Parts: sequence; C-alpha cells; structure tokens
Amino acid sequence: MQILKFGGTSVGKPENMHIVAKLITRDAESKIVVLSALSGTTNSLTGIGESLREADKEAAKKKIDDLKAHYDNFIPALLRTEAKREEASAVINEHFEFLNITLRISYNGALNRDILAQGELMSTKLFTLYLQEQGVKARLLPALDFMRTNEEGEPDIPYTTERLTELIAAHDGVSLFVTQGYICKNHNGEIDNLKRGGSDYSASLLGAALNASEIQIWTDIDGMHNNDPRVVDKTFPIAELSFDEAAELAYFGAKILHPASIWPAQRYGIPVKLLNTMDPEAKGTVIGKDTISNEIKALAAKDGIIAVKIKSSRMLLAYGFMTKIFQSFEKHKTPVDMVTTSEVAVSVTIDDDSRLPAIMKELEALGAVEVDRNQTIICVVGNFVAQKKGIVNKIFSAMTEIPIRMISYGGSRHNISLLIDRADKEEALKRLNSHLFEF
Ligand code: ADP
Ligand code: ASP
Ligand code: MG
Repeated sequence: MQILKFGGTSVGKPENMHIVAKLITRDAESKIVVLSALSGTTNSLTGIGESLREADKEAAKKKIDDLKAHYDNFIPALLRTEAKREEASAVINEHFEFLNITLRISYNGALNRDILAQGELMSTKLFTLYLQEQGVKARLLPALDFMRTNEEGEPDIPYTTERLTELIAAHDGVSLFVTQGYICKNHNGEIDNLKRGGSDYSASLLGAALNASEIQIWTDIDGMHNNDPRVVDKTFPIAELSFDEAAELAYFGAKILHPASIWPAQRYGIPVKLLNTMDPEAKGTVIGKDTISNEIKALAAKDGIIAVKIKSSRMLLAYGFMTKIFQSFEKHKTPVDMVTTSEVAVSVTIDDDSRLPAIMKELEALGAVEVDRNQTIICVVGNFVAQKKGIVNKIFSAMTEIPIRMISYGGSRHNISLLIDRADKEEALKRLNSHLFEF
C-alpha cells in the first residue's frame, strides 16, 4: 500500500485534478490518495468563520457566495458529461446549504471546525466523481470514520489502523481509495482538524497506521529546497534527507511539510518522497533513515517566536532554578524550542503565548522576566560532526550585520539555531544562502 497526498494547488484547478488522476492510475499498486481542499478554500472558510465570530453576517454571506461561484465554475471544467456535472452540483449545493445555515445559528468553536472541514469534503467528492467519469474503479473513504485525536489532541494511530483495515476489507477488489486530509474527529466526537497544512500529517499518519511501503507528498515544487524559495531567489532541491533532518526543517518552518508530519513516518520507518505534480519526472526529495549527510543541507525559518528571559534574583543560578523554570512551562503545556543559559539568566523561546500570563506569574517569583516578541528562529540543518570545522565561522560571517538574540548549538548533531528579530529574517536567509551554499 502506498499513500499519495496531493496539496491544494495540485487539486486547485480542474486541469490539475486531471493530472492527479493520471498520476494515480499509472500503475496497479494499491493506494490511498489523500487530498487537500482546493487552494484558497481553507483560507476562505477561515474568513467565513471569522466573520461569523464577529457577528458580521453580511460579510460572511458575501464570502460564502464568492466561494460558491468558484465551485460553480470549477465543475463544468472538471467534468464532461451533463449527468456527472449535475451530480457534482448537487453535492456542492449540499455543502453550501450547510454554510448558509451557519448564518442563522449561533457561532461556537465546534461550528467553526465544522466549517473548516467543508473544503476537504468537497475536493474529495469532486475528484471521486471525476474518477468515476473516467471509468476508474475507486472508493471514497470518509476520514471522519477513522482519523481521531485523543484528549491531548494527539492522533490515535491504533484506532486508525483498526477502523481503516475494516473499511478496506469491506471493499473487496478495490485497490484505489480517496480520502480527506486535514480533518478528523476529536475525543468528544466533534469534527476537528490537524491544524493548517495538516494534510501532510494525515498522509504520514495513514502511512504509519497501514505500514505503507511509501508516503508520497505531491505539491507544487520539486522537493525540499535548501532555503525558503519564497524569500531567496537561488535555491535548489535536496535529493536526500534523513528523518531527523526533515523533521527539523518541517518543525522550524519549511512550509512544504506540516511541522508534525515526519514523526509518524519516522517511528514506523516508512520512506517519504516529496514530489512535484506539475513536473512528475523531477527527482524530488527522498526522506528516509539511511541517508548519509556530511554537509550543510538546508535552512528554514519559523516566525512568531517569543523569547522569555528569566534573570535569577540571586547572583548565581541557584540549585533547582532550571527545574522550576521548565516545570512552569510543562505545567502550562507550552513547548520550549530554544534554550540558552548564562551565569545568571536563562532564555527560552516559545511559539504559543496563550498561557504566557500564567507562566510569567510563576517565573516572576524566581527573578526578573523579560519578554521579546516578533522573533524568528533560523534553523541550519546538516551533519555538523562530519563537517566540524568552519561551520560556525561561516554562519557568523554571514550574520555580521544582523543582531543575533540567541544561539543554540550542540544540542543535536544536525541543528544550529539562531534567534533574530523577525524584521531581519529575509536579509539573514539571503546572506546565509550565499555564505553556506555553493552555486
Ligand atoms: P501544498 O498545498 O501542496 O501542501 P504548500 O504551499 O503547503 O503546498 O507547500 C509548498 C510550498 O512550500 C512551496 O510552493 C514553497 O513556496 C514553500 N516552501 C517553503 N520552504 C520550502 C522549502 N525549503 N522547500 C520547498 N518548498 C518550500
Ligand atoms: N486545507 C488545509 C489547509 O489549507 C490542509 C492542507 O492543505 O494541508 O491548511
Ligand atoms: Mg501544505
């Protein structure tokens, strides 16, 4: 079994859906095809939810109508026969009926998550109708029947294995399945999602749940590049990455992969390929455990970081000071990314400030607390054991004009992290690109 995930741009135009259909029927290998919403849809749905939350029904209605017009234009270009076009319109109308009902009922978080789920529900239904029109034998499996998160918001892989195995067995003779990325049920049985970009995570979880032979992430670029192509002009695809390297890059901002999308594949030892729907013959990137790296592989940047510095009220760090600091973050379920210490102070970074007021209260009992917002972590990934000499030098010489707030090196063999002001990010990525890579 292979898992193939196609992102928003891969299904965002009718002609791209046609390409996807060709790609998934090139061979007879059994497959689960995981689809995102059409590009732009999840953003529109987020906007509809925001307007409803602000009780601006007029704005919400306008956004619903605009989105509906998009689907009305999509259908005749996707499907050829009148019968299938009518079927598709009926399906889409049902989803928009639901969206219009949300204008008349009271808003809450669960309703918003239900609204967000409409994109993947619609894209998979449209795509399945197209496959049927093409005479392809395929079945749509509802992700809400087998993707579930627990009280902690963590995915329940054994549940997915059990449910999905049953569902697949019920379709004897079918070897091609289509399902939704991103959406799931939570422990209350409500519709929920795996956060923005979560279809990659869905694909990896399905790969793990079914012990797939391979997970393919099809997108609009030929693999993981050495730097953010949206910021830096000269970037190139990386042929091979280890799971650890890919996980760091995803976690620290490489948008091509959802931050959590590597661990399920890594834990179950399933190779992940990043491929380009618009250029299927391009080699892309292979992520697996056996890749050997002896160089700087890539950079990524993660915005929205908050640095918290705690200066001990005693002259030197007292015994137990660190423990108390970390206990506070742990108690408030706030993950810490970077840590640096000096004789009298500890600095940490977080990306979620929802519990920061409560954390601050506790930290202030230990010393003076300073908070810096709008920070960015730049993460340099590679194998720094093999290439021990000169790396830090190169990084520093690239960064001479850019103030560095924190540096973290030595925590792992394949990561050096720098904390800088968000305003300096573009410049830093460009300078590091020309200092660290040869063109
Ligand atoms: P999809 O809709 O297929 O999930 P995304 O937009 O989420 O696609 O991810 C692909 C995009 O990620 C690329 O178009 C590219 O602009 C961006 N990106 C950011 N960093 C990288 C990187 N290091 N390598 C490749 N793409 C990257
Ligand atoms: N459609 C969702 C999003 O835009 C999930 C995804 O595309 O991966 O975030
Ligand atoms: Mg994505």
